[in-house]
Amino acid sequence: EYGPAPEDDGPAQAWLDRHGRRFGVFIGGTFQAPGKTFATRNPARGTELAQVTQGTEADIEAAVTAARRAQPAWARLGGQGWARVLYAIARLLQKHSRLFAVLETLDNGKPIRESRDIDIPLAQRHFYYHAGMAALMEDELPDRVPVGVCGQIVPWNFPLLMLAWKIAPALAMGNTVVLKPAEWTPLTALLFAEICGEAGVPPGVVNIVTGDGATGAALVSHPGVDKIAFTGSTDVGREIRRATAGTGKALTLELGGKSPYVVFEDADLDSAVEGLVDAIWFNQGQVCCAGSRLLVQEGIAEAFYAKLRARMATLRIGDPLDKCIDVGAMVDPAHCAKVAEMVAGSNGEVHQPGTVPAEGAFYPPTLITGLEPADPLMRDEIFGPVLVATTFRTPAEAVEVANATRYGLAATLWSENINRALDIAPKLAAGVVWVNATNLFDAAAGFGGVRESGFGREGGWEGLRAYTKQAAPPKALVPVAA
Ligand code: NAD
Repeated sequence: EYGPAPEDDGPAQAWLDRHGRRFGVFIGGTFQAPGKTFATRNPARGTELAQVTQGTEADIEAAVTAARRAQPAWARLGGQGWARVLYAIARLLQKHSRLFAVLETLDNGKPIRESRDIDIPLAQRHFYYHAGMAALMEDELPDRVPVGVCGQIVPWNFPLLMLAWKIAPALAMGNTVVLKPAEWTPLTALLFAEICGEAGVPPGVVNIVTGDGATGAALVSHPGVDKIAFTGSTDVGREIRRATAGTGKALTLELGGKSPYVVFEDADLDSAVEGLVDAIWFNQGQVCCAGSRLLVQEGIAEAFYAKLRARMATLRIGDPLDKCIDVGAMVDPAHCAKVAEMVAGSNGEVHQPGTVPAEGAFYPPTLITGLEPADPLMRDEIFGPVLVATTFRTPAEAVEVANATRYGLAATLWSENINRALDIAPKLAAGVVWVNATNLFDAAAGFGGVRESGFGREGGWEGLRAYTKQAAPPKALVPVAA
């Protein structure tokens, strides 16, 4: 499995060919004729993969109408019916997992090892979990009913997984959806649309409208949408919150982060270094909860940096389809250039041991030390494979520095002292705190942020409740006339 031969992308290319490499939007259970299109590219090779439709206001109108029409019957189906369909989706994701994984890697640039072993299995697990939960809804949440039609907007960093986080709970609670994938990575959402029919998803229950921010904005402002679920940048989240204010639409926002990764002097340093590889170089650091701010206790800082630099030098950067590589391509040359520009403007000491392929949107794993706390690189989300590092003296100072951010999505701490871990973890302003581990996800655990990282939770009961609303109280009984 982990041999040097690259993964075969033949079946994924054949799938694209079968569609003539041109895709329309998916509304009411069928792909529409392509409209005005834009290219989606393989960022590792620069080649065009397909032309995808730029969804218009008319497309959003048609999709919301289809979702509205389909919703009452879908809601009436009830828990067992929803479960049957969600299980069928999960099984088809499993059956076609290789095709999904390769397509994801081609479109996004992430290593095949990650799409094959993380993204696609987690997406399957999300549908299995929500199939099980759907069957429980009537008993466990007897006073809740579906919200109705949900508009869902996802980013490009985990295209299929973010789709799963959105569509699985919505369908499991009797809602219908209009989902807009990110413009750089629409392909696995279109493959997902294709399997919906086979899974028995009734027409109109899942609609996929590709396009850019304008398409997303049209979905947000459409009056026929009852709830917006958004994952993406804090700036766009802010715009969406403004646009939905006072409209009565329900809203959840999963936004950016600058998550601290705190290493105490009593930590197992080798494990903490390995955790860091996962925290900041997984998916080229394009992870909302990436451990992008390293805080090391002063006494071990030099030793820790030395271990980290040595490990960085062994990371393999290259063709994402190569099963042996650790770091793939960035999602797009434009994003790669933005990250490079941020690093170029740094006043710190920049450490970049790796060499990147000459062609393609590659950026090397980077460590920056010696930055002032007020430096923008210490504060702003870079969303790339760039780790900024600083030191602290006492546990109290660690908490202060860790919390000196406008975000609050995740935090990681490493210590062999359980009392210390239990003392510090609740003091960190973050939606999730990992102890001696990082980037652990489970469909059953609510995930989400505080502060400018957003609000609302996805996953678990909290995530499910967010796709329901209070049922109207029963009407007063009217006595039957004698
Ligand atoms: P982005 O905000 O630029 O785009 C996200 C999605 O919103 C895309 O589909 C885009 O087309 C759409 N969009 C853009 N402008 C819009 C508008 N005005 N109205 C409606 N929709 C609009 O974010 P991105 O660059 O795709 O993703 C990276 C960001 O996502 C990072 O900040 C990252 O931290 C965040 N993220 C958060 C989570 C989480 O769970 N908290 C998970 C993944 C990514």
